[in-house]
Amino acid sequence: MNSRPNRNRPVFMLFFILSLWTALVLFREPAKSTATFRDQIQVMGTTAHIIIEPGPEMTTSPQAAAKAAFDAMEEVDRLMSTYKEMSDLSRLNRAAQGQPVTVDARTMEVLQEALRMWQDTGGAFDVTVGPLVRHYKKIVPLAHLPDNASLQPVRARVGSQHLLLDADRLTASFARQGMRADLGAIAKGYAVDRAMEVLQKHGVTDAMVEAGGELRLLGQARSDSSEAGEAIPAGGTAGSPAGSSRLWRIGICHPREPQVLALTLERTDCAVATSGDYLQFFELDGKRYSHIVDPRTGYPVQGGVVSVTVIHPTSCMVADALTTAVSVLGEDEGVALLKKIPGVEAILYVLDKDGKLKPEPIHLPVPQ
Ligand code: AMP
Ligand code: MG
Repeated sequence: MNSRPNRNRPVFMLFFILSLWTALVLFREPAKSTATFRDQIQVMGTTAHIIIEPGPEMTTSPQAAAKAAFDAMEEVDRLMSTYKEMSDLSRLNRAAQGQPVTVDARTMEVLQEALRMWQDTGGAFDVTVGPLVRHYKKIVPLAHLPDNASLQPVRARVGSQHLLLDADRLTASFARQGMRADLGAIAKGYAVDRAMEVLQKHGVTDAMVEAGGELRLLGQARSDSSEAGEAIPAGGTAGSPAGSSRLWRIGICHPREPQVLALTLERTDCAVATSGDYLQFFELDGKRYSHIVDPRTGYPVQGGVVSVTVIHPTSCMVADALTTAVSVLGEDEGVALLKKIPGVEAILYVLDKDGKLKPEPIHLPVPQ
């Protein structure tokens, strides 16, 4: 048989090579970056940071995972802020006495934890402290502390025994007129928990989430030591990769020199929160008064525990609430409360009886 030269062969060959190349380009596994990913947003009146060490189990890019986690934080803010008119909290605070307000399941979860904390602390932690917080915001700068009689009508509108929750119907109401709930002592910790949960759903195994000093740490920090120590804000605590140790480094600010770190710790797989009188306070007769109010007396917290950091094995919401509770309870009762909670570590800076900062903090449990 006479074989004729196939004039189309070079065209077929070119087409075949081009198709193969296109298939290779289209179906090749994209090279996953393992570089440390960092991002931040403004939320809940503060800056929130996320650091992700990308790993093989991730189902999305670090950018997409962080975006979803930040979205979860913004959602908590949208539900629980007292500055947003349509939040669950603002609607509850506007409602008439006894009128049930439907709230999101997440708001209910935080309100229920707040009620538990109120019971466990004998009323030192109380999210219905809103009228007192507002009262002090209105009357500062103070020439002197308000007398007991003038505080009476405000104190009558405070008390979690008058906060009624129906978890099945997802409703909340106040039994008294003029009450106000304020989740400033617990919602940030909850938002950090939700963000970390979202990262884990995206297969993240090594990360840090932080909002205004409340944070969660997961897995290992892989960044090299040149990056360690970055992103430590002026107050509270902050996490960063801890160089060669692969744990996350936590910086605890000095309670009287907030630009200075009093202590650094290396930890992972835990939640960390800090409260103190050094970020928001007012001064009167040479004494510093905290933004935290003792609901049992109606007066702002003064002296005692000036900074408390709680490290909780699983919940930033609980750590956040505990720091506020211990600030109110003071050294003895605060330490007693912390000792009752399994797996909790805490660092307390306290004043001596002359109002001077004791140089060494109380560290619970006492390191071996
Ligand atoms: P934190 O900085 O986490 O201790 O939270 C302090 C914020 O919680 C304050 O700005 C108030 O909005 C609110 N707060 C003040 N006193 C109390 C209290 N005794 N119990 C619960 N929340 C409080
Ligand atoms: Mg708190």
